[in-house]
Amino acid sequence: MTEPLRTIAPPVVQPLLPPFFDAPAIEESRATCGDCAMCKKPDQTAVPGAEYFIPDAKCCTYEPTLPNFLAGAILDDDAAELAEGRARIRAKIAGRNLVTPAWIAASRKFRLLLDAARTTSFGRTTKLLCPYFDAGRCTIWRHRESVCSTFFCKHVGGAYGHSFWRALKAFLGHTETALARWAARTVDPELPETELPRLPLTIEDVEDRPPDDATYASWWGRWVGREEAFYGECLARVRALDRAAFEAIVLADDRGRSALETLRLAYDRATKPVLAERLVLADDLRPARSGDGVVVVPYSSYDAQHLSESLYEVLKMLRAEETVSDFVDRIRREREVDVPRDLLLHLQMLGIVVPPDAEA
Ligand code: SF4
Ligand code: SF4
Repeated sequence: MTEPLRTIAPPVVQPLLPPFFDAPAIEESRATCGDCAMCKKPDQTAVPGAEYFIPDAKCCTYEPTLPNFLAGAILDDDAAELAEGRARIRAKIAGRNLVTPAWIAASRKFRLLLDAARTTSFGRTTKLLCPYFDAGRCTIWRHRESVCSTFFCKHVGGAYGHSFWRALKAFLGHTETALARWAARTVDPELPETELPRLPLTIEDVEDRPPDDATYASWWGRWVGREEAFYGECLARVRALDRAAFEAIVLADDRGRSALETLRLAYDRATKPVLAERLVLADDLRPARSGDGVVVVPYSSYDAQHLSESLYEVLKMLRAEETVSDFVDRIRREREVDVPRDLLLHLQMLGIVVPPDAEA
């Protein structure tokens, strides 16, 4: 049986999410993480235009920004498989670099490097490995945050699936921010809200050192040296919430409500897709010849698609002024070929064919 959507969130958040999250989760069976779908097998020929990751990094060339209550949840979870994760969180706390009452974050230097190298190096170098990644596995998996829990390299629902996961990431990310700020404020109203702009880099950032003691003390006040206890208190506050209190924190403003509405729409579109009345071949597919067909790169560079030459030629015959039904009839007359509507819907979801107005 398919698990409900809420199981994608970490355990402490799951029971608090609105009833919408009882809908079945979307299973991304094409992202075969145990045998990573982005890693080229030794006997596999590289597909033109496709990107590949290395097995000892996969998509974990990233460092999450962990909200206080999830840091607390990791430290509070005594499962044996989290022992390494707990040790790594404690090492991060001891290092003091971007360890604040609201977040345990990647250093500014790392974030800058990641942003600058994303298109060339994501998934392709161990130099950008997440500090919670250990020998091919995530050491904090059960309590990972919204970016990690919603990333998939390939989507069963193509572009529609991709949009859904992006909407879920936005909603869960908003949830984390709202809860982390609320928890920090509630545990100690005297603490200032620490703003951590990406730039400029301090000399400590450049030299991979923590901030000076005075700066660190200005973030933590009386909690310096007791950061772990603070995160535990934040966890306790979030655990004690009921759904009404959660909604008062997370859905109190337009941002939360509109993120939830966008998520609902994206879920409906991904799970109940409708064939457009008119379709054309997308114009940004970067087609490349490959064997007996054409490789195109539609909604994501991680999900190149192989089309037979004959199918690609037929798709080029789509016209903006013609309905899909008329197109199917015309191809049957002119080419004696049936183009199934299911196939067109599949290609529409992948973003290989798109409604003409999407091309404007
Ligand atoms: S989601 Fe990550 S680990 Fe899973 S198959 Fe894709 S790249 Fe590999
Ligand atoms: S927290 Fe876990 S899933 Fe996320 S990047 Fe790190 S190792 Fe990967």
